[in-house]
Amino acid sequence: MVYYQIQIRDAKAHLFAVTIEIPVLDRHQTPLRLTLPAWLPGSYMIRDFAKNINVLKAHQGDHVIPIKAIDKQTWEIIPQSSERIIVSYEVYAFDLSVRSAYLDQYWGFFNPSSLCLAVLPYADQPCQLTLPPYRHWQVATGMPRIDGTAFNAGVFQANNYDEFIDYPVIMGELTIEQFAVRNIPHVFVLVGRHYADVKRICRDLTAICEQHIDLFDGQVPFHEYVFLTIVVGQGFGGLEHRNSTALMCSRHDLISANQTVVDKYYRTFLSLCSHEYFHSWNIKTLKPKAFIPYRLAREQYTEQLWFYEGVTSYFDDYLLHRAGLIDADTYLALLGDTIARVKRGIGLHKQTVTESSFHAWTKFYKQDENAPNSIVSYYAKGALIALCLDLILRLRSDHHITLARVMNDLWLNYGKNLEGTADDTVMTFIRAKYDIDISDFLQQALYTTNPLPLRELLAKFGVSITPVLSADDNQYGGRKAEHPAPVALGAKYKATPHGLELHHVFQGEAAHLAGLSAHDRIIAIDYLQANDVSIKDILQRSEPGDEVIVHAFRRDELLELKLTWQAAQPTSYTLTINAPEAVRDWLLLPKSVPPRAPDLNANGAN
Ligand SMILES: [Zn+2]
Repeated sequence: MVYYQIQIRDAKAHLFAVTIEIPVLDRHQTPLRLTLPAWLPGSYMIRDFAKNINVLKAHQGDHVIPIKAIDKQTWEIIPQSSERIIVSYEVYAFDLSVRSAYLDQYWGFFNPSSLCLAVLPYADQPCQLTLPPYRHWQVATGMPRIDGTAFNAGVFQANNYDEFIDYPVIMGELTIEQFAVRNIPHVFVLVGRHYADVKRICRDLTAICEQHIDLFDGQVPFHEYVFLTIVVGQGFGGLEHRNSTALMCSRHDLISANQTVVDKYYRTFLSLCSHEYFHSWNIKTLKPKAFIPYRLAREQYTEQLWFYEGVTSYFDDYLLHRAGLIDADTYLALLGDTIARVKRGIGLHKQTVTESSFHAWTKFYKQDENAPNSIVSYYAKGALIALCLDLILRLRSDHHITLARVMNDLWLNYGKNLEGTADDTVMTFIRAKYDIDISDFLQQALYTTNPLPLRELLAKFGVSITPVLSADDNQYGGRKAEHPAPVALGAKYKATPHGLELHHVFQGEAAHLAGLSAHDRIIAIDYLQANDVSIKDILQRSEPGDEVIVHAFRRDELLELKLTWQAAQPTSYTLTINAPEAVRDWLLLPKSVPPRAPDLNANGAN
């Protein structure tokens, strides 16, 4: 067995010290290979974690033995005797994200994929991790513990290296709240300064997790589940793991004791939790055949991320609604947000969701200023495809078959047994199992850029979609703007004290036609200083066809350009229930009141 030990070498310098004890079966055995992943499952980008490894050494007894670098992330050791080999190195950990590792004097977080070299040929065997005590820090992870008391330093064990790197670890002064969902232990862990009402959050998480477990008919692919949450001033993200999720959120995302309503920040946090939890079934167990096994040395391609991220994105908010945490109108506004996100920009017409999935490594994960003009999100469009699928299945089965039912059956047939899905599994399975042919729809939705039949499908459920004007170029979504501007700049921008920084310029719209580019900084429009207030004023008072002179800096060069205002186009989409009886099967009606309201009394609020 390979034994890892992770110590804190110098928290202020963000350095972990890693030691690996490796058995030597006989001194003539083939060379050992030590290698670190280049990426980690769930986040499809080459990250080259090995770049943070320093002072790599190996010993046998008192003898230093040579280590030879084979490539950017792999080293080779030839045993010199039959004594066990001790490998040691330090890892610089200062990536404030859920994908890698972070350490300072206040707390630490790591994915073992960033810290612990795999040892070949032992990667298929069990391995142990020792985390020695450090100050009064606590430890939280989903990794099975074999020594030490709960939430403290100790010894942990995984069945093999693949499992080992799927257990992120948080350490520091932690907030820990345990709760049970359908008798399965769950833990909500926070690190970082916060003012969260953790009991309230756990009650809401319970309601959400119950929906997920019930959707899968009580079949749960873990024995316990841990929400590992890093709280920062500004940040957001999550990554799914086999029995945990690593989350990062902003302090204001977490509901506090004196807050009574689910605001958009808290709702987004719950939606993130819901999303990562759904992944326990949909990508951690049910997964593309192409990911069995994961090969983490280089990119691994699949066309199916539209399904694994899109369906998960559909159910994250939908199950929030089923849990009674958001009412039907709020849910429909969120769908409107997704529609608006997908439709803004012409990338939608240039890339299919299967292409978006396949090229995630270099396009979706490396989005630049031109992204709206060149790509489509397999998350957002995938969620709309999932919505269409749900509605089509309901319509063609007289409301007996839902996408939830399909997910449960797919999981039982291809997930529980880790068989994996081929590119056509969803289509062939639905035809074979329920005698419903969705091949036409999927062919169009996955392999062409033709529009989805959202309007027609939603109409059959008594819901209409209305394109409406947005407040301005930065604020499009699922709600009607109070005072939409009659003209649009055709660019997303950020107002700074030095002008309007253009982040995205939409092809074919006013800014582009005037000759403005992303990264340009508009300092004046019509000879008046451009700022957050003045841009809104000028958009409100202008008419389509009006011409203005725009001054902008591109790098250090001043540009003077003539811009012709274009009529604002409806870039927001409102969804309205016209026939409550038709929607009742799909959405909870009458509009649910936040069912958690009575709990607030316990907190002294009324
Ligand atoms: Zn996801």
